[in-house]
Amino acid sequence: MRVWPDQKPYYSANQYYRDIFGNKIYKISLDIGCTCPTRDGRKGVDGCTFCSERGSGDFAIAGPMQIRGKIDSAIQMVASKISSDKYIAYLQSFTNTYGPVRLLVPVYEEILADERVVGISIGTRPDCLSNAMLRELARLSKTKPLWIELGLQTIHQKTADRFHRGYNLSVYEDAVTRLNQAGIPIIVHLIVGLMGETYDDFMSTVDYIANQPISGIKMSMLHILKDSPLYKEYLENPFPLLDEATYIKWVAEAITRMPENMVIHRVTGDGNQKNLIAPKWSAYKRKVLTGLIRYMTVNGLYQGLNYR
Ligand code: SF4
Repeated sequence: MRVWPDQKPYYSANQYYRDIFGNKIYKISLDIGCTCPTRDGRKGVDGCTFCSERGSGDFAIAGPMQIRGKIDSAIQMVASKISSDKYIAYLQSFTNTYGPVRLLVPVYEEILADERVVGISIGTRPDCLSNAMLRELARLSKTKPLWIELGLQTIHQKTADRFHRGYNLSVYEDAVTRLNQAGIPIIVHLIVGLMGETYDDFMSTVDYIANQPISGIKMSMLHILKDSPLYKEYLENPFPLLDEATYIKWVAEAITRMPENMVIHRVTGDGNQKNLIAPKWSAYKRKVLTGLIRYMTVNGLYQGLNYR
């Protein structure tokens, strides 16, 4: 049995940020007003079917205010729960590199110039990373740490088509190659229990990701959200969702298959509970996390154990 310095059986984001910054770092979510090619008509109009109206950034600070005001508001939101004066700005909502480079780069620069922001994590899609954008991101990454987060979710095209992802695996692989050439660390998002996917389907995605030149992963349960197209599909043709115990088993096994140095940024989802239709158990994040760590500890599981 192996545990990391924060006593978790895997290399958590908490530990990773401590290793980089020397203390605990919190993330604040900002919405900089982008959209997605699967929403604006370029590749679709409804977005990925599981995604919420707010582009999976339900708690991100949005609106017409200036960047500094958004950072102020985001910090105020977390201020009652934490004490910190250093934050990573997380551009979580929609596709944050989808737009003109000349307009987006000054926004990133303004965020990074804020003395309270120690780094930036930019959520985007692999088909929205032009070479011009990568050159700018590489330049900015020399000022403060910068990560790119890619919502791959699955390697299986059949599933990706079903939720209207709008790009194939070769597009993801090309983006990963170019991001590595630019020296930009990558975090990949995976969804556990996608429609029609079996345990073996998920584990083949996991084994593929485990051997990718990326920095970390985020895993979350497939949520049915009230304001998503998937809700309509679910009502018309209900499909099975994982129960909590199965979710924990799958995620624990996925973690054992990851190399020891890959950062596990997230093991449960963080959607808006008010919008959550199913599965209801996924609203209790802390319980799922505690259950996962207990399951791994009892069964002698730890990150890297089954890495091939
Ligand atoms: S999952 Fe990402 S790319 Fe798809 S609609 Fe939501 S924000 Fe856009």
